Amino acid sequence: MKWNILALFTVLLTVVTCEIDYYGVLGVSKQASEKEIKSAYRNLSKKYHPDKNPGNEEAHQKFIEIGEAYEVLSDDEKRGVYDRYGADGLKNGGQGGRGGGGGGGFDPFGDFFGFGRHQQQQQRNQKPRGSDTEVAVDVSLKDFYLGETFQFTVEMQNLCGTCSGTGSKDNKTHTCSTCNGSGVRIVKRQLAPGMFQQIQTTCDQCHGKGKTIQHKCSTCNGQGVVRGKRQYDIFVEPGTSRDHVHVLSGESNHSPDHVSGDLKILVRESGKESYGYRRRGDNLYRTEALTLKEAVAGGWRRELMFFDDENITLSRPSGKSVMSGEIEVIKGKGMPRPDHHAEEFGDLVIDYVVVMPGGVSNKAKYLRDEL
Ligand SMILES: [Zn+2]
Ligand SMILES: [Zn+2]
Repeated sequence: MKWNILALFTVLLTVVTCEIDYYGVLGVSKQASEKEIKSAYRNLSKKYHPDKNPGNEEAHQKFIEIGEAYEVLSDDEKRGVYDRYGADGLKNGGQGGRGGGGGGGFDPFGDFFGFGRHQQQQQRNQKPRGSDTEVAVDVSLKDFYLGETFQFTVEMQNLCGTCSGTGSKDNKTHTCSTCNGSGVRIVKRQLAPGMFQQIQTTCDQCHGKGKTIQHKCSTCNGQGVVRGKRQYDIFVEPGTSRDHVHVLSGESNHSPDHVSGDLKILVRESGKESYGYRRRGDNLYRTEALTLKEAVAGGWRRELMFFDDENITLSRPSGKSVMSGEIEVIKGKGMPRPDHHAEEFGDLVIDYVVVMPGGVSNKAKYLRDEL
């Protein structure tokens, strides 16, 4: 048991500390081009070739190192992993287990590098999605009934037109030299002699963007984005349900760093131009007050304004009484049904309330407040 822990510890030490500076081995800079790397490799491998150094163990070791360094730095993908995570990154299965051999299958940074690869993939293949934005428009009941196109203006974040979102005056961006464009840095912290912890942090040089600019665009102060007004037309179909959400896909804040989310427009009912009607689903409701005399004796007539300009007539002949709380249903005078199944319109429900002499009864007041 004890021995196992010791073995584990030794492997850990090996993995963490056994790092070769491949650029140093080839004597090139971190920014070296493919050509420079190739030519450095050619010169050095000639110089240290075993044929030219028979019996020289040091030269032989050097020759192997040069080959290793070239193998990594001449391959874009391997070089990328090495730049970000060092030689450990390559050893710990950066290539799906290739080259990992000999480590006894123990992978102290498995999760760590898994995370790293995931991030890297996200940066390379797809930008993260930005958040959605919600705005509300207030629509009168009349407009819900008739349908209407609304023009509205909203202030959102837009890509800067001057620099096309680069934030750079000359439209040029440069790969950040601190993080080599990854936007993250690996910081090593010593836990104990010979034992290090690696922590991934956002690159402070480029603030995680992976790119730097030399001259800031003066319009957006180098941000690449500016706030500005946008105008949209939305059509509210006749009979659109209350609190319907209209989605303008990809119209949320724009940014060079993310894929835009959606702009969601909540269609609320404003309470204006309701003409005394109240909506519940496809039906309209209305409370109509009658005097005691009207209720008892009949012989009255009311013209109610309606949304489509055809007034609604309520009436009772003389001698026809109405009870308080009586309901009258007028077919087809409710809200339009946008999906047109069954009837095209809902119904209008009239609720009669008899007003006692001396004022509105408490019950009537209550009913009115509800509407
Ligand atoms: Zn700009
Ligand atoms: Zn950076």
